Amino acid sequence: MDNTAITDNQKLAAEISVIAKPGKRARDYQQINLYKDVNPLDWEDWHWQIKNRITKLDEISQIIRLNPEEEEGIKNARGRLSMAITPYWATLIEPDDPSCPIRRQAVPLKHEFQVGPYEMIDPLAEDADSPAPHLVHRYPDRVLLLATEQCAMYCRHCTRRRIVGHEEHTDNSLNRWDAAIEYIRGNKKIRDVLISGGDPLLLEDEVLDSLLKKITDISHVEFLRIGTRVPVTLPQRITEGLISVFKKYSPLWMSVHFNHPKEITRRTKIACGMLSDSGIPLGSQTVLLNGINDRPYIMRKLMHELLKIRVRPYYIYQCDPVRGTQHFRTPVSVGINIMEKLRGHTSGYAVPTYVIDAPGGGGKIPISPNYILSQAKGKYVLRNYRTKIYTYLE
Ligand SMILES: *Cc1c(COP(=O)(O)O)cnc(C)c1O
Ligand code: SF4
Repeated sequence: MDNTAITDNQKLAAEISVIAKPGKRARDYQQINLYKDVNPLDWEDWHWQIKNRITKLDEISQIIRLNPEEEEGIKNARGRLSMAITPYWATLIEPDDPSCPIRRQAVPLKHEFQVGPYEMIDPLAEDADSPAPHLVHRYPDRVLLLATEQCAMYCRHCTRRRIVGHEEHTDNSLNRWDAAIEYIRGNKKIRDVLISGGDPLLLEDEVLDSLLKKITDISHVEFLRIGTRVPVTLPQRITEGLISVFKKYSPLWMSVHFNHPKEITRRTKIACGMLSDSGIPLGSQTVLLNGINDRPYIMRKLMHELLKIRVRPYYIYQCDPVRGTQHFRTPVSVGINIMEKLRGHTSGYAVPTYVIDAPGGGGKIPISPNYILSQAKGKYVLRNYRTKIYTYLE
């Protein structure tokens, strides 16, 4: 037997088990009966995390105490937006609290199968703005490439639930983006490509590498970004191998979907740190969700925690009127009030833009408290964050 190999392996296991420690926001996985014998090397292996996702009622019920609304939700979700929870995400769930924000984002409720008023299958009319398969071209200079139909964890509020989470009908052919790439190549106005999905970071390194190469080979594409939730739901995916792929395509920006301060664990911080250190600017996208992050103090805490891990808050989205998400939607006034409590009260870097993605395909429209009280020739009457009134003369 090769002694150095054993020592190296043991050393690695020891190092990895330190990385795998979740910090104060999560349970140590070894405290969960289902995972108590899992080797830290496996726990840290993203393929292991994907292979061991929780998809069944009898699995999740070993980790949390389910209520009848959840049981019914899980049964009915099969074949629609199925339940899939990474073991990592499961360690963040409060086992006895049905209102746990981590749990509510991952465990289906029976309410998902009720269609609320004004709800649609494709509220943003993305399919109507699709010039090629997997591509949405809505704005003049940029496109959205829906690179996969899979995610590490399926968010119950997902806007793209018409596309994602139907794993049995997934197209995995290597040429599936060819028409989209030809379209981008043929349209010189496109300078910005946003790769999203599903979650593009569920693609294997080599596949992602070849996709990024095909896009960056197009000379008029000058800005490339990836939309992902993996640093939050599967931080183990951010590996040295993945980073070395990204480094070849700098400048590359990334938008990460974060919804609650509890999502920012020690493990997520390590993943985001690796991305930032490799020169990838990180932004966050947050969906405003009823009972999850609809209080100004929670949203402020989230924004502060994001700055601490070098993620710049980018957007807060009004929850889209997608079928079965009524229980997640808040009135627009809730979002406006959150913006009111952020702007001026805290660092400008902690203030994202609140947007409504217009139903029917109008794109993102910024919504803000009103700071202009009146406007006449050469004169603006404004109010500040403390509602004091000021006049600006042009
Ligand atoms: C959100 C989105 C973009 C990117 O918008 P930015 O405001 O530039 O971040 C591009 N295309 C589509 C279809 C989108 O929904
Ligand atoms: S990660 Fe994004 S695309 Fe995937 S389920 Fe969540 S919201 Fe939907």
